[in-house]
Amino acid sequence: MIRARRSRIVATIGPASSSLDMIVTLAKAGADVFRLNFSHGAHETHAAVYAAIREAEKIVGRPLGILADLQGPKLRVGKFANGPVMLQAGQAFRFDSDPTPGDETRVHLPHPEILTAMRPGATLLLDDGKLRMVVTDAGPGYANTTVANGGKLSERKGVAVPDVVIPMSPLTAKDREDLAFALRLGVDWIALSFVQAPEDMAELRRIVEGRAAVLAKIEKPQALKVLGPILDLCDGVMVARGDLGVEMAPEEVPVAQKVILRAARERGIPVIVATQMLESMISSPTPTRAEASDVANAVYEGADAVMLSAESAAGEYPEESVSMMNRIIERVERDPRWPELMQAEQHHDDDDADVLVVAAAGAAKAGSTKCLVAFTTTGATARRLSRERPLQPVLALSPDINAVRRMALVWGVEPRVSAQPDSLEVVTTDASSKALELGLVAPGERLLVVAGTPFGAPGAANLLRLAHAPAPARRR
Ligand code: PGA
Ligand code: MN
Repeated sequence: MIRARRSRIVATIGPASSSLDMIVTLAKAGADVFRLNFSHGAHETHAAVYAAIREAEKIVGRPLGILADLQGPKLRVGKFANGPVMLQAGQAFRFDSDPTPGDETRVHLPHPEILTAMRPGATLLLDDGKLRMVVTDAGPGYANTTVANGGKLSERKGVAVPDVVIPMSPLTAKDREDLAFALRLGVDWIALSFVQAPEDMAELRRIVEGRAAVLAKIEKPQALKVLGPILDLCDGVMVARGDLGVEMAPEEVPVAQKVILRAARERGIPVIVATQMLESMISSPTPTRAEASDVANAVYEGADAVMLSAESAAGEYPEESVSMMNRIIERVERDPRWPELMQAEQHHDDDDADVLVVAAAGAAKAGSTKCLVAFTTTGATARRLSRERPLQPVLALSPDINAVRRMALVWGVEPRVSAQPDSLEVVTTDASSKALELGLVAPGERLLVVAGTPFGAPGAANLLRLAHAPAPARRR
C-alpha cells in the first residue's frame, strides 16, 4: 500500500479512535503516524493503543509511526475558597506562594520558579489567554499585578508567562514517568511540550539515549528566539500553534510557522504543522474553506506532516478528517504550480549538502529516474534525499524496523524493512525488485540507488548506481 502523496498525516488517538478497528480505518484513510497524547489517558490505555497500532501495521502492510507527546510543564493557578472569581480590568490581583485558597484579591501560584522569575512589566496570561495581568512589583514568594483584561477565573486554570524564561526543568515528575513508560513500550518518536531552550532538548536526549527520535514542540515565544540551537538538538519539530497562539498574538502565529518550517527544512529534519487544522470537523463532516486552505498551505510550504488533534482523538468524524486531509494533500500535489511553490521554501547552502545526495536528487529532477532508492541503516541518507524535495518517491530500505518506523514522518519517503545487502549485486536486485513490488517503477524503468560501502558499516553514502527494474519473471 503506497501513498500517492509526499506530505504525511499525523492523527492523534483518543476516545474516538482507540479501537483496533478505528486505527486500521484511519491508517487506510491515510494516517502515517499516530500520536499518543500523554496529557490525557492512563498508562494502560496508552499501552492498549500502542499494541493496537502495531497490530494495525500488520493489517495495512506499511510501517506506521508512533509519537508519544509529553505534557511538559503546564503551569496552573491554585484553588479558590468560594468557586470562580470575577476580576475587573484595572483592579489589583496578587499571586503568592501561600497555599490558602484564594479570593478576588489573590491566589496561590504553586510554581515558585515563576514568582522568582517575575519582573515589573511582565505579562501573565490565564485560561488560554482570556485574562491578562501585568506585574507591578514582585519579590520572594509574591507578584502583584494589575488586571489588564478581566474575566472569570476558576481554580487550576493554566498560566502562561510569555516574556520570561522560567528556570525550571522542562520535564515534570509526570513527564519523567510517562517518558520511561513510553520508552518501555517502544514508541518511535518522543515529543516534548513547552520547550524553552536548547538545554531542554539536551536533557531529553540524555534520558532517551537514542531509543526514540526526539521532537521539540515549539509553542513558546522564548523558543523562537533560540530556534536554531534548539533544532540542532532535534530529530524533528512541531509547529504547536495551539499554545503558540496563547502566548503570541494570532497574527504572529503564521509568521512563526514560516520561520520554523524554513529552519527545519534547512536542517533536513521533519516538521509537523499542528492544531486546529480541521477544527470544525470535530462536529461536522466537512471543514470550513479556511481550514481546507490552511492544510493546503502547509503542503505548499513543503511541511513533512500535517496533524489532527481533537478531530481524530475526540471528534465525531475521525475517519472523515483523515480522508479530508488526504484529499487536500493529494489535490495540492497534483497542482502544476505546487513543485515551484513548495521548492521556493528551499533555502540551504549547498556546501553543507552531501554531493552524492545532491547528484541523485538532481538526476531525479532531470527526470532520468522514476524512483530513488536509499539503503540507509539509520534513515539519515533518506532524510537527506527528502530534504532536496525530489518529486520522485524515495524508497528507503533499512534492516532496522525502528529506523523504518521513524521515517514514516518524513516527506516523500517510503520506508521498508529490508535485509542489509552484502554485495553490489544484491543492492541492485533488492532495490529494483522492491521498487517494482511496491509499484514505484514499472518493468524496465530506471531507478537510482544510493548506498554506502562497505555494506553495513555506518558512514555516509558513497555509491550511486543506476538500475533497471526487471521484466516480470516468465513461467516455465
Ligand atoms: P497540544 O500541543 O495539543 O499538546 O497542546 C499542540 C499545540 O499546542 O498546538
Ligand atoms: Mn500545546
